[in-house]
Amino acid sequence: MMRQTLVEELRKRGIHDDRVLEAMVAIPRDKFLDPTFVLRAYEDSALPIGEGQTISQPYTVAYQTQTLRLQPGEKVLEIGTGSGYQTAILAKMGMRIFTIERHVELLEAARKRLEALGFHKVISRAGDGSRGWPEFAPFDAIVVTAGAPDVPESLTKQLSPNGGRMVIPIGSQQKQTMYLIERNGEKLSAKELADFAFVPLIGKEGWS
Ligand code: SAM
Repeated sequence: MMRQTLVEELRKRGIHDDRVLEAMVAIPRDKFLDPTFVLRAYEDSALPIGEGQTISQPYTVAYQTQTLRLQPGEKVLEIGTGSGYQTAILAKMGMRIFTIERHVELLEAARKRLEALGFHKVISRAGDGSRGWPEFAPFDAIVVTAGAPDVPESLTKQLSPNGGRMVIPIGSQQKQTMYLIERNGEKLSAKELADFAFVPLIGKEGWS
């Protein structure tokens, strides 16, 4: 099966969290793509989803998800719903998901796909996710799926003070470094991880 082959490749590249890999075997990435790209669904590459945006590369989705060290039932905020693929992976892993997308058309398409796959509990809204979703804070984990110039202060404030984690690509509009930010009480720690290339996070606490 193509999904199984993809997952074996991800394992070779250092994805070792079985819950992440199991979710990636379970979720049909082809259902998150336009017909033009369906045949490429199980390539490890980012692909266009409209509005100049992309569905992230499977490796990137797996890497961000694994980095968060999630436990079932945790409350997760996703910034940049895009196609809804990572949302589905997180939901399949048993997370309580809140997701924000700035392009209404993309969000509506993602909602339909998530409903069709039976993920009825995902809470989503259109808007600027760089400011987070204070009404539902604190979050155990935050995943930012677009590249930011800096860490949005609103997001660190919405992280749980009891070991909240955020994974976020920071850098220029062309290239970013992934960071893992952890919060304990009022103390924040940042760990620099690997380099990636994301579409920009556009918003009040992102790029203008
Ligand atoms: N995980 C998604 C997927 O696999 O389809 C990734 C989608 S793409 C790499 C990042 C998304 O972030 C784009 O759809 C873009 O429109 C969205 N985005 C950019 N800035 C945003 C913001 N301030 N708030 C919410 N969404 C934003």
